[in-house]
This record gives sequence, C-alpha cells and structure tokens, in this order.
Amino acid sequence: MRDFEGKIVLITGASTGLGAAFAVGAATRGAKAVIVNYSKSQAEAEATAAAVRAAGAEAVLAQGDVAEDGDCRSIAAKAEPFGRIDCLVNNAGVTKFAPAHGDLDALEREDFQRLYAVNVVGPFQMLRAARPLLEASGRASVLMVSSIAGVTGIGSSIAYAASKGALNTMTLSLARVLGPKIRVNALCPGFIDTPWHEKGLGAEGAARVREGTKRATPLQAASTAEDIADAGLFFLSDASRHVTGETLLVDAGLHLGFASLSMR
Ligand code: NAD
Repeated sequence: MRDFEGKIVLITGASTGLGAAFAVGAATRGAKAVIVNYSKSQAEAEATAAAVRAAGAEAVLAQGDVAEDGDCRSIAAKAEPFGRIDCLVNNAGVTKFAPAHGDLDALEREDFQRLYAVNVVGPFQMLRAARPLLEASGRASVLMVSSIAGVTGIGSSIAYAASKGALNTMTLSLARVLGPKIRVNALCPGFIDTPWHEKGLGAEGAARVREGTKRATPLQAASTAEDIADAGLFFLSDASRHVTGETLLVDAGLHLGFASLSMR
C-alpha cells in the first residue's frame, strides 16, 4: 500500500515502541519524509531513522521535550524546508506506575503535573507550533495517542488515566476549531508490547501484564506496536478524510471484559 506517497510526517517520542512503528509504517507506505522526535534516547532515535531510510523515506532527527513550548517550536521548525506537515502524531507519553488505584497516597501533586505537562500540554503545544505548517498542507491529520485508560479509568495510575481522559476531550475541542484544513483524532490502545511496561514494572511485571492481557481480551492477543500503528495510520491517511473528532479503541476487545464482569 502506498497511501502515504509524498507525505511529510512528524512523530513525537518516535525513538521507541509505538512511535517507531508509526515512523517505519509511514515510510513503508510511501511517505516522503519522517521527522523523528526524541527527548533523551538519541541512539534509539538514530536506529528508527535508519529504519525509516531503509524503507525509502527521508528521516530527520528532532531532539526536544514536548513539555517545553520552545522545544515544540524547534521540533516543528524541522519541517520548514518541506513547506508543510501532512501528519502529526502526538505519541510521546509518560506515566507514573501506581497500579493499586485505591492507594491515593501513591500519587503526589508533582506526578499529576508531570503527566499533564507531557501527555496533555505537550500535544497542545506541538499542535500549536505545527499549525501553520499543518494548514499549509490543506489536508492535514493530527493523531493523539491516548489510551483505553482515558476511557475506562484503568491503567498504570489514576493520574495517567486522568491525563489521557483530558487528551480525549482536548481532541474534541481541537477537531471542532481546526477544520476544514486540519483533522484531529485520538487512538486509544489497550496493551502494547513496547518498552513501556518493562521500564515501569520490570521484565517479570511486563510478562505478567502481557499474559494477563491475552487472557482478558476476546481476541486473546497482546498487541504489538505494529498492530496499533496500523490502525492509527488509517487516521493519518486520506482514507479517513471525512473523520475528525473521533476516538478509536484499539485494544483486542479489552474494554468488553468490563461489561461482562459487571453482570456476574
Ligand atoms: P515507549 O516508552 O516506548 O514510548 C514513549 C516515548 O515517548 C519514548 O520514546 C519516550 O522517550 C518519549 N517521551 C517521553 N516523554 C517525552 C517528552 N517529554 N518529549 C518527547 N518524548 C518523550 O512506550 P509506548 O508504549 O510506545 O508509548 C507510546 C504512547 O502510547 C504513549 O503516549 C503511551 O501513553 C501510549 N500507550 C501505551 C500503551 C502500552 O501498553 N504500552 C497503552 C496505551 C497507550
């Protein structure tokens, strides 16, 4: 499929996991250039850029912390030589693992502030910085990488779920005001098999979540980054040209488990 032919794509947090899968997916489908943002992991970002080039697209590295407005502006500026941005994926995200939600003392005010700064304010600032270049595209698509946590209140912590819920609401507000030139949608993955869980829970904890997800989902699947990116690429492609303000759960059916549990 070459449905990204000629597109200029910018992805935040693209050195690892889902962001890297978006970068390679867009390049494989014909993107002209992929701007690979990373905050700290330069070696991994260079590996993503090499994979993008191997797939046939130009790769541009853009270091920066999306929580910093000045960084967002310099990340967006990397696309200026191309004259436009066709696709912006606000993928960068962080969490604080406090999975025993009843333990309210496990979260500090600073945890909420850090998570909101990256997961909510970051996407807002990135979109604002990229807006002129997105409008120059005339057919731009912005994708917010949210989470099932933001829809159901589950996940690594209450602060994380609340930040993704805020991101979902912000998606609606932005979609309403940025048309007709810019579409804005949100993707809500369930479990994704990326470094995310191992970073927070260690290898054993990550394996436990992976196996638990397989048991809890109708599709009996622990999604890979590519499984999720493939669904997200739909929102970035022209196949979704009349879709804006939409929120899509991509979770192998994980959310359905909660409905049946309540009937027991
Ligand atoms: P990941 O840890 O591999 O990717 C997150 C990326 O964001 C990392 O590359 C990290 O360096 C980058 N990042 C963090 N803070 C940043 C900042 N301030 N500025 C720029 N980059 C920053 O994990 P992933 O699973 O690929 O996560 C990608 C997205 O998917 C996140 O938004 C996460 O909330 C969401 N998500 C993940 C899961 C899951 O199960 N892994 C489920 C639902 C949603």
